[in-house]
Amino acid sequence: MRSYECIACGYIYIPEDGDPITGIEPGTAFEDLPEDWVCPD
Ligand SMILES: [Zn+2]
Repeated sequence: MRSYECIACGYIYIPEDGDPITGIEPGTAFEDLPEDWVCPD
C-alpha cells in the first residue's frame, strides 16, 4: 500500500481510506483523484 504526502502541508493521502472529507471513496488511487482535488488543508 502506498500513501502520498502533500509537499505543501504534509497531508498524507491513503488510497485505502480515500478522503471522506472531500467525498473520495476508499480504494481510490491517487492517480484517479479528480484533477481539481486538493488536500483538506
Ligand atoms: Zn496540502
